[in-house]
Amino acid sequence: MKIMKFGGTSVGSAERMGAVSQLIPAQEPVLVVLSAMSGTTNHLVQIGQQLAQANVAQALVLTDQLEQRYKQVVAELYKQDDSKEKGHQVLQTVFADIRACLHKPFSAAIEKIILAQGELLSTQLFQIFQEEKGVTSVLLPALEFMKITDEDEPDQAYIRENLQKQLAKYPDHHLFITQGYICRNHRNEIDNLKRGGSDYSASLMGAAVRAQEIQIWTDIDGMHNNDPRVVKNTYPIAELSFDEAAELAYFGAKILHPSSILPAQQHNIPVRLLNTMQPQAAGTIISSKRTGKEIKAVAAKDGIYAIKIKSSRMLLAYGFLRSVFEVFERFKTPIDMITTSEVAVSLTIDNATYLPEITEALQRFGTVEIDSELTIVCVVGDFMEDKPGAALKVVQSLSQIPLRMISYGGSKNNISLLVNTIHKEKALISINEGVFSERGKSHE
Ligand code: ASP
Ligand code: MG
Repeated sequence: MKIMKFGGTSVGSAERMGAVSQLIPAQEPVLVVLSAMSGTTNHLVQIGQQLAQANVAQALVLTDQLEQRYKQVVAELYKQDDSKEKGHQVLQTVFADIRACLHKPFSAAIEKIILAQGELLSTQLFQIFQEEKGVTSVLLPALEFMKITDEDEPDQAYIRENLQKQLAKYPDHHLFITQGYICRNHRNEIDNLKRGGSDYSASLMGAAVRAQEIQIWTDIDGMHNNDPRVVKNTYPIAELSFDEAAELAYFGAKILHPSSILPAQQHNIPVRLLNTMQPQAAGTIISSKRTGKEIKAVAAKDGIYAIKIKSSRMLLAYGFLRSVFEVFERFKTPIDMITTSEVAVSLTIDNATYLPEITEALQRFGTVEIDSELTIVCVVGDFMEDKPGAALKVVQSLSQIPLRMISYGGSKNNISLLVNTIHKEKALISINEGVFSERGKSHE
């Protein structure tokens, strides 16, 4: 079985849904995973925000607006009256469910019910569309098999067992459609895999059925070697290893949800990034294959805080780092980069929710300095020890930019550099010129 996940823009209009249909193979077993139509989840977030502020009237206005948009979609998507009728029935149920939420006391659980409606809409409308075209398909309810634990982690055993149970009900079918993003939590309430989580859904489902391939269809032609918003002449990377792709996704390549690599990697299922607007383009294939190609790509992640702890107690001591890390563990804050000297340690975080508490706790160990508005520039490739020069090339290309931290050797795939965010653009452009210029020019 193949997984085909289509993002919000790929199903963002009646016309786009038509284009997506063309991409689904006729005979092969396929599980199609859909996001909400573009803009919908943002709109639902706003409804939730109004509700959180007890602004029910405004939440209702926003709900009406969304319903109008969907009426338009139904009018454009279907040709036949009975399909239009079915589409309207879907809208009626979904919007009645949203309005019912608006009249209940606001809670996180209510908000999550509202957020789930985007994927419930897109999948039902798409399935009716298939039916109208004479294509038989089955709509699988993700809420019956996607589950997260009390720690907000996917329950992979549950997902595998229950997705297979669902599929087994339809032995004669080969086209299945389901919702990305949504799931149930350990209390059995409706929940989600966080924003952008449909990719993660697709990967979890792919792992659950041991799919032959997981395809992530978006509106760009694969993962690029640099940020196309900042640098000209970027190009899609044909092949990446799972580790390289995970680093790029985590450090800023917006095309793929960072968590979605691991489930595929665990079962060695290739992930292919493809473009609905340009379906013939090769895109990017992510697999266990190492290409041996030295420097492949660079990505940047903003909003980074650096924390430096300076202490003479660190000198010749052991256990110091453990005490430092325990503070971050206590406040459930992941660390991205770390560098140490004999008397100081610098590390970075991107979630500053508990920064005041963390700072206070760290002050027990020494002087603490915090810097903000920093960017991690992450260069990814296959840096084998026997191929010297990669780090030099990168650092040399950044000779005009002050570097706050450098991390190399943590893995064979990553060189991370911490710069002030005001220097980010220049850093990306300089790396492009210093490292990718040949390849970039050939793609002009
Ligand atoms: N619809 C959700 C979002 O906009 C999930 C997704 O599209 O991946 O975040
Ligand atoms: Mg996405």
